[in-house]
Amino acid sequence: MISKLLIANRGEIACRIIESARARGIATVAVYSDADAQARHVRLADQAVRIGGAAPSDSYLRGDRIIDAARATGAEAIHPGYGFLSENPDFVEAVAQAGLIFVGPSAQAIRAMGLKDRAKALMVKAGVPVVPGYHGADQDDARLRAEADKIGYPVLIKAVAGGGGKGMRLAEAAEDFDEALASARAEAQAAFGNSDVLIEKFITAPRHIEVQIFGDGANALHLFERDCSLQRRHQKVIEEAPAPGMTPEVRAAMGAAAVKAAKAIGYSGAGTVEFIVDGSGPLRSDGFWFMEMNTRLQVEHPVTEAITGVDLVDWQLRVASGAPLPATQEELTIHGHAFEARLYAEDAANGFLPAIGTLSHLAFPPSVRADTGVAAGDSITPHYDPMVAKLITHGPDRATALKALRDGLAATEVAGTTTNIGFLSALAADPDFAQGGVDTGLIARKIDSLTAAPDPRPQDMAQAALMLSGLGDRQDPHSGFTLHTPLRWRVEVGGQGVTLTPRGPDEVICTVGEAAVSAQRLGGVWRFDGQAPRPCHIHGRAITLFGAAPLTLGMADPLDRASTQAAGDAVLSPMPGLLRDVAVAVGDTVAEDDRLAVLEAMKMEHVLRAPRDGTVAQIAHEAGEQVQAGVVLIALDAQDGDA
Ligand code: ADP
Ligand code: ADP
Ligand code: MG
Repeated sequence: MISKLLIANRGEIACRIIESARARGIATVAVYSDADAQARHVRLADQAVRIGGAAPSDSYLRGDRIIDAARATGAEAIHPGYGFLSENPDFVEAVAQAGLIFVGPSAQAIRAMGLKDRAKALMVKAGVPVVPGYHGADQDDARLRAEADKIGYPVLIKAVAGGGGKGMRLAEAAEDFDEALASARAEAQAAFGNSDVLIEKFITAPRHIEVQIFGDGANALHLFERDCSLQRRHQKVIEEAPAPGMTPEVRAAMGAAAVKAAKAIGYSGAGTVEFIVDGSGPLRSDGFWFMEMNTRLQVEHPVTEAITGVDLVDWQLRVASGAPLPATQEELTIHGHAFEARLYAEDAANGFLPAIGTLSHLAFPPSVRADTGVAAGDSITPHYDPMVAKLITHGPDRATALKALRDGLAATEVAGTTTNIGFLSALAADPDFAQGGVDTGLIARKIDSLTAAPDPRPQDMAQAALMLSGLGDRQDPHSGFTLHTPLRWRVEVGGQGVTLTPRGPDEVICTVGEAAVSAQRLGGVWRFDGQAPRPCHIHGRAITLFGAAPLTLGMADPLDRASTQAAGDAVLSPMPGLLRDVAVAVGDTVAEDDRLAVLEAMKMEHVLRAPRDGTVAQIAHEAGEQVQAGVVLIALDAQDGDA
């Protein structure tokens, strides 16, 4: 058995691999970029080595430095995780040349499956059904168009080097083809440096069902299927195992095809064979076609672990150490049903814009498996994929596992960044999804209702207003507020005014627009129109109310001079980001439009300028800090006459 393992990755997958290695008594070495020096995977590992700057090309994609780190620490093996170098055959060869073990398939197997066109040709030879289409070498536009006409519309144009849904375009009809081709090519060239494409029949009402396979070089077996049909723009959102409506016959046929694919390339380690499936009716043994093989551990592998009881990373480590397959096909059975939801820092209501931020609070309910690369206090940075966690639930049947997912999402608490919890909760509550009626178009058809931003209820506004007013223990909604003032006061929460009128020590009337909410202290707990307060967390001048539809409400603080200044006296952060540079100091005289600070967000720099002539009164944040949207960064002296 390997005694020391280097993990060439970051985030949740690095943490998850460390856990399985540790359970086997294997020592672990993390590698990290400058942006990750304090990251959870670094804290978890026995040892950690810095490999370079924040950009992946300076660190997690630097195979040479990773191999040096393995040598320097005496690690015998390298686990690549997913993404980054996991499917890079040159890296696999370099690892072997350094006398180290690569936890994964051979360079040759990765090459065989690396390009979709070659992989499909190989599968045709191996007798695996592939999607009808053209995957030839002739890349002439006219030839491609002729092939598309022959296949019949709609067709899908795919980058042969594609991955992660990139370089893929749907042409609904002949007249869309030229534009779709040009756009697929351009994206493929930019993302993969290879503009070659293939053309596929677009399967209508498609479902994405994939088979987890495992090989030891000589033998291969499958660990059943996962349904990953809930996708947004070809990216998986919620996955499950087994697939709804799967029959023993179709499962046997898909499993056999997947094992055939693995054996055709002498596969070793964990891999996934992805099929596109005709979802227009019941599943059929002749209604699935090979799409591609992912020659690595997959993001959604935990749902397979949940229903089979197999630790796939443990299997990877054993097989990489030279052991044969740890089980036989007959020994594997399915227990119950499992779901995984990908929790991202992103703003679903705002075009799924990636978000960043420091997680002032992060808690998962004990009822779910939460695979995460962050803990409270850590940041989601603009440098990498903004995944916060994967939530995995398991139950005796689909309905129970799905309810556990809904409950688990509602009980997950994230403050300090925007997340897609509301979107995931809406999906998990969708009646069609609950029926098992899934296809890859479901999200797109319902996108507006799934991403609608929740309107705060008057009770939410009342709770936010009271707690943000600083009454009682702000972190504990159950603690008593002490009302010192018999006067009414007004606060602005989430851009809306709330008037608070005390009616004695144990009651406040909170007026929000037309609504009046009675906040009453009963048995030491404040209730809002009789309802218990929502679990919440206060960070700065904002409160996040947790639940299936989490809400963050900010307050204009009447005691903070900067925020009460007349408009134009303060420079606010327009979006969450990293404050790169502050170009002025307190006391500096500035003129309108002078450059005051630079905010980096979404990998772009935004220059923040003076709203008018004035003197800098306050610098609220320093360069290098992550800041939320809407916070005051720099305040100018109030102009004469303003107060
Ligand atoms: P999976 O099927 O496991 O979801 P995909 O085939 O969609 O993975 O993508 C391939 C790999 O590329 C993923 O494992 C993931 O690590 C990485 N990846 C996909 N999308 C992104 C992205 N937007 N940013 C960074 N990495 C990504
Ligand atoms: P990637 O490498 O980007 O993961 P895939 O070939 O695996 O690309 O396809 C990604 C997704 O695109 C699939 O999960 C499916 O939703 C959709 N898709 C791919 N091929 C087809 C097809 N022929 N018909 C319909 N949908 C497809
Ligand atoms: Mg794919």
